Amino acid sequence: MSWTSVIDTSRIAAGGLADFATGLTSPSLRLGVTGLSRAGKTVFITALVHALLKQARLPVFETQSEGRILRAYLEPQPNDDLPRFAYEKHLEALTGENRHWPESTRQISQLRLTIEYAPESFFARNFSSGKLHVDIVDYPGEWLLDLPLMQQTYAQWSASVVALSRKSPRLELAKNWHAHLSTLQTDARADELQAVKAAELFTTYLASCRNRQASLSSLPPGRFLMPGDLEGSPLLSFAPLDVTPDQSFESGTLGALMERRYQSYVSHVVKPFYFGHFARLNRQIVLVDVMSALNAGVHAVGDLRSALTDILASFRLGSNDIVSNVFGKRIDKVLFAATKADLLHHTSHDRLQSILRLLASEAAQKAEFSGATYDALALSAIRATREATVTRKGEELPCIAGTPEKGEKIGSEVFDGATEAAIFPGDLPLHPQAALQGLSEGALQFVKFRPPLLTGETFPHIRLDRAVEFLLGDRFP
Ligand code: GDP
Repeated sequence: MSWTSVIDTSRIAAGGLADFATGLTSPSLRLGVTGLSRAGKTVFITALVHALLKQARLPVFETQSEGRILRAYLEPQPNDDLPRFAYEKHLEALTGENRHWPESTRQISQLRLTIEYAPESFFARNFSSGKLHVDIVDYPGEWLLDLPLMQQTYAQWSASVVALSRKSPRLELAKNWHAHLSTLQTDARADELQAVKAAELFTTYLASCRNRQASLSSLPPGRFLMPGDLEGSPLLSFAPLDVTPDQSFESGTLGALMERRYQSYVSHVVKPFYFGHFARLNRQIVLVDVMSALNAGVHAVGDLRSALTDILASFRLGSNDIVSNVFGKRIDKVLFAATKADLLHHTSHDRLQSILRLLASEAAQKAEFSGATYDALALSAIRATREATVTRKGEELPCIAGTPEKGEKIGSEVFDGATEAAIFPGDLPLHPQAALQGLSEGALQFVKFRPPLLTGETFPHIRLDRAVEFLLGDRFP
């Protein structure tokens, strides 16, 4: 064990000790909610908290269906160094007069939900407070995909990023950045402006890989796309150079400047996130927009595969760590959830779930993942559609109906944001392998629907209760 890992380990111990001490009085569970941008984190957390506060119908959540949940409420969060998840603001967006989807996650935030329940077991009846604090930690999946950088040198990282960018579909998107890259001399005198320009062009390249058409997933460094509080920071002014993985850099050169910035990024951004937040989670839900990846084609699916492998490898990092074992701080359950299932007819929900399950099990094998339970689910945290059958040319089509957002188009029809429409979204193949090998172009049709009009006390959802049971169900003894 190197000195840095001893020091790093003691950082977890310090955090773990604080959590451990508070955990003695009232048990708490730190639930990480992550996923790439637009995967559905904000909507999921808002819906989850709302459903628990309002005791929504969650039939598969056993403790609730047994009537043992007494009440749930929000409390001040335990960590003063984290922004609070803006639950009330997001709920207002969803339920206000001009209802709309809330603002998406841009940085890490936290919310403490306390659930009081009637203990069932003899031990719990006598010794527990019948209270569980759930600390929900929302963070961009882009940051999670940075964790492998802790084990890569600048030259190794550069070489792999450049090599990947020379393959389709990235090659076409990297043109401008490549043109600049070819003008850079690694051993020329360090030039700040060149570094800034390279970082700018590299960031634009990453952003185009992420756009709706390409829908690629593996795009570190995560803060380039999701800077959080580092917007404009010099920590983000570096980029890969065209070097070999074992290249070394003489001091004073452009290579050395880039290398130093990369190392600062790893030690001032990636490591504090890992040790301060990630390593202290107990449970994790990873939200995945599987349908967008399927629709964007085989490259996007291939990239999602490698992102899921990296994610599972991150959960394995530190799982053999003595300190985290002593304090029980290791992730013991991971749930992968394909979001926005309401954009498909229910006949495709199980298929969507099987596709994600297959992706997750492949990733687990590749990442040699062990020690934690994982599962995959298709869900919709807030269901914006209902089902309808439309007869066209004598054929019955399983459709979904809702209010498309203003400006959304299907064929030549442009929606006005007020009119309801029924849409045949297409269906997924019966066998998950077939979906992963690539859907034919236009096989799935998506429209962005407005959130549903809240008529009762709670939002309609699809399988949110299964997620709650998996993530929290065993914590009400
Ligand atoms: P984040 O970037 O991960 O925080 O993503 P959001 O939670 O902000 O979700 C991004 C967008 O996905 C939202 O603005 C909605 O348009 C859509 N969305 C998220 N969850 C659902 C869902 O359950 N159903 C539908 N129809 N759309 C959803």
